[in-house]
Amino acid sequence: MNYKSTILSASALLLGVFYSMAASPVPSDDNQQQYVIVLSMDGFRHDLPEHCNTPTLDSLKKAGVYTDVYPSFPANTFPNHYAMATGLYPDHHGVVNNTFYDKRAKAFRSVFSKDVLTENFWGGEPIWNTAERQGLTANIFMWPGSDILIGGHRPSKWMHYTPEPSYRERADWVIEAMTRPEEEIPHLVMWYFEEPDASLHHHGVFSKESIAQVEHIDSTLCYFFREIRRSPVFDRINFIVTADHGMTNLSEEHRLNLYNLLDTTQVIRTVPGSPFGLEVKPEYRKEALRILRRAGHLTAWAREQIPARYHYGSREDRITNIVLLPDLGWTLDYSPAPAPLKKAAAHGFDNYNPDMHMVFFASGPAFRRDYVHKSFQNNNLYLIICHLLGIEPAPNDGEWKNIRKMFHE
Ligand code: AMP
Ligand code: ZN
Ligand code: ZN
Repeated sequence: MNYKSTILSASALLLGVFYSMAASPVPSDDNQQQYVIVLSMDGFRHDLPEHCNTPTLDSLKKAGVYTDVYPSFPANTFPNHYAMATGLYPDHHGVVNNTFYDKRAKAFRSVFSKDVLTENFWGGEPIWNTAERQGLTANIFMWPGSDILIGGHRPSKWMHYTPEPSYRERADWVIEAMTRPEEEIPHLVMWYFEEPDASLHHHGVFSKESIAQVEHIDSTLCYFFREIRRSPVFDRINFIVTADHGMTNLSEEHRLNLYNLLDTTQVIRTVPGSPFGLEVKPEYRKEALRILRRAGHLTAWAREQIPARYHYGSREDRITNIVLLPDLGWTLDYSPAPAPLKKAAAHGFDNYNPDMHMVFFASGPAFRRDYVHKSFQNNNLYLIICHLLGIEPAPNDGEWKNIRKMFHE
C-alpha cells in the first residue's frame, strides 16, 4: 500500500500552514532577534518517514531544509545530545559514552546515575549557557545534560528527565513558553522525546509498534505546529527537528563471544555495549588485537590508533586501551554463558553507516525552502543555533562551510 497517497489531503492542509510560515516576511528590521526551537526525537533514523504515515514531517521537509545528519562517535544517546549542545566531539566534551570507566576515579560512570553530578563529568559549554551568558534566555525541557550545573550555570528553565509526560503535554510546555508576553518569551527552547528509540529497541526497525510510535509523534507535531502559530513572535521562530542516532536490527546469529577467544587472565575489565571497551594488560595488547582482528565481525583498534575521522581516543582517562566496533547488527559478549538478547535493535555502530543516520528538518525565516542540504555531522547544530540567535560561539568542532548553504543568502 502506498501510505503517501492516502494522506494527500492532510498533507496539503499542513503544507499550507508551513508554506505560509516559511513565506512569512522576514522581519523588516534585520537586527530583530530571532528565536530557535529544537526537538530531539531519540533514535529517529533518517528513513523512518519513508515507511510511515508522517504528513507533518513530509510537509516540514517541503517548507524548509532537509538532510540526513550523521552522529558523532559513539552513536549513543548522551555523547550525541551533548555533542549537539556543545558543538564538540564526545572525545572533546568528555561524555565518551553513556557508560565509561574513569581511570582517575577508579570507578564506572553512567549517565543514568548520580555520576552526572561529579566534577568535570561534562566539558565544554552547552548552547543554553552560551546563549544566557550573552543575555538571551533559554528554556530547556529535558534535553540530556540540561538539568546539570555546568561551569556553575544552568538554563533559566530546566527540568529533570522523566518519561511520564505525554508528548502532547511536552508540546504544551513549549507552546506556553512561546505564547507569553513578548518580553518573557525564551529565545532558545530545546525539548526531547525518548521515542522512537524505546519502541525500536524493543520491537525492531519498521515493526508495527515502532511505526505506530513514529505516527504518534507526527500527529503530536501536527498539533504543535498548529498551536505554535499563536506565538506573538511566530514569524521569527526557526524550528529544527532532529535526533541523536539511528538504529539497526540485531539477531542471535550475529553474536560473537570474546570470552572464548581471549586469555581472560590478561583482561583487566570490559565496558560492554557498542562500541565495546576492553582494557587489557599492556603486555597483552598486541596479542589481543591480533586475535580479535582474526575473529572477524568487528574492527579492533588500539585506543590511540582510531582513525582520525572518528575523532575518538584522546581521553586516555575515560577510554579503554582497546576499542571494538562490532560490524553493523553484531553483538559482542564477554561471558562464559551469554544470556539471550534483550533487544531487537540497537545503535552505537559505525556513525558513518547509513543505518545510524537520522533526520534533520529545519524551517523558519532563516532557512531556505524545499531545499535538500548535503549531509553533515550533528555537532554542527551548535554553530547553527549560534548563527540563528546571533551569538558568539564558544570554542567548538563545528565547521561553517558544512552548514552555510541551509541559510538564505
Ligand atoms: P540509550 O538507548 O541507552 O542510548 O538511552 C536512551 C534512553 O535514555 C531513553 O529511552 C530515555 O529513557 C533515557 N534518558 C534520556 N534522557 C535521560 C536523562 N536525562 N536521564 C536519564 N535517562 C534519560
Ligand atoms: Zn538515543
Ligand atoms: Zn537507544
